[in-house]
Amino acid sequence: MTDKIRPTHVIVTCMDYRHMDDLVCELRDETRVGVDKYDHLIVPGTSLGLLQGRYPHWAPAFWSQLEVAHALHGDSLRHVWLIEHLDCGAYHTFLGTKGHRQREELLHRAMASTIKDAIVRWCSEKGIGWTVGCKIMKPKPEDDGHWTLCDLETP
Ligand SMILES: [Zn+2]
Repeated sequence: MTDKIRPTHVIVTCMDYRHMDDLVCELRDETRVGVDKYDHLIVPGTSLGLLQGRYPHWAPAFWSQLEVAHALHGDSLRHVWLIEHLDCGAYHTFLGTKGHRQREELLHRAMASTIKDAIVRWCSEKGIGWTVGCKIMKPKPEDDGHWTLCDLETP
């Protein structure tokens, strides 16, 4: 492993195939994260996936992966980005949001806020100084099939 480029971010996303290629293009942009600069953890539904109860092993798997990321790259990592996305199948399945975009976006804000707080507590307990940002991928209305990365204001 070459250590010239070290990761600065841990990215947490849903597994959804539709937004992944566009997300990688956004993340590779030097004004965002940069090339080869992030560890990528995947949880279906992102924040909701860590809060739902149907698959209780998802959350422990996430926290153990975050611990591994810290063990491997803790000296270079500085940020965790929770990246939600609209029209998320996990939100439709667990919360019945299909066809209710505004309600879904409000729920993304609430879930991301809860997980952001949990990660901040986790970092604090371990003496880790990472920041936690919340983002959301939204479909580009003028560009069918493509998505764009936006900031997600949390309560
Ligand atoms: Zn999703």
